[in-house]
Amino acid sequence: MSEPVVVAHGGAGRVAKGRLEEHVAGVATAAEAGLAVLMAGGSVLDAAQRTVEVMEADPLYNAGTGGSLTDAGTLELDASLMEGAGLRAGAICCLPPFLHPIRVARGVLDDGRHVMLAAEGAARFAEAAGFERSTEAVMVTASARERLERWREGRVGEGWAGGTVGAVVSDGRGHVAAATSTGGTVGKRVGRVGDTPIVGAGTWADDRSGACSCTGIGEAILRFALARDACERLRQTDAATCAEEAIAAFGERVAGEGGLILVAPDGSVGIARNTETMSHAVARPSGTTSGS
Ligand code: ASP
Repeated sequence: MSEPVVVAHGGAGRVAKGRLEEHVAGVATAAEAGLAVLMAGGSVLDAAQRTVEVMEADPLYNAGTGGSLTDAGTLELDASLMEGAGLRAGAICCLPPFLHPIRVARGVLDDGRHVMLAAEGAARFAEAAGFERSTEAVMVTASARERLERWREGRVGEGWAGGTVGAVVSDGRGHVAAATSTGGTVGKRVGRVGDTPIVGAGTWADDRSGACSCTGIGEAILRFALARDACERLRQTDAATCAEEAIAAFGERVAGEGGLILVAPDGSVGIARNTETMSHAVARPSGTTSGS
């Protein structure tokens, strides 16, 4: 038995030096909020969800409020979560404005009939489950609009939002969970679905291997099934090595750019990226560490 742990990321990309400290601090706050849920008796899934919720509410990140915009200037949100004991998962994609897409994904998981719901169907499910629709006026930030403008002018490459959020959790007693949420890549086509809501690509959790949340160019992550790849490696070696090896293979095979956080059922952690930054934090009862 080892210490429980919550690991969080705030997206792979290139966060400007002047904003990095605040960006990393927000991820640490989220991881600690998730850990508090776990220590109060919540499940690993509850803790992963809470960690992501905190960052969805923070306009600094590309998830929930502050999410990146489509080429039409609209918000289409993707999120998923999974628990490793029963391999139960819930996901939504192309969700119109709702403050907490990860809560809707959790609703899909708890409902249990489907794993993933899309667009207006997902929105109707969310309303029936008691979630209120939000609006673009409330959730679109000036910075998201600026990012879209820069993209339209060809000044930024697709995918460099650097603010997708994710969490992986281990209770140190063999149970793991993962959750990821995003607005997607800047200027994506309306209807585009990235890796974030796809089980095995952006998010994976299995008590027999581990849990992983990914970030980066979704098309490459989808083709490589990166989260499942990283977790499968845990059957052979330690989490830190697996994270590095998975990102190296991802770069080699599909020219992928991104990063991931990984936790084994014994609570050991791996964090890797091949981008300039990926804000991350590791919260344990004995203390929190963070970095980019
Ligand atoms: N993976 C996300 C997507 O492609 C974007 C990101 O992680 O920044 O939608």
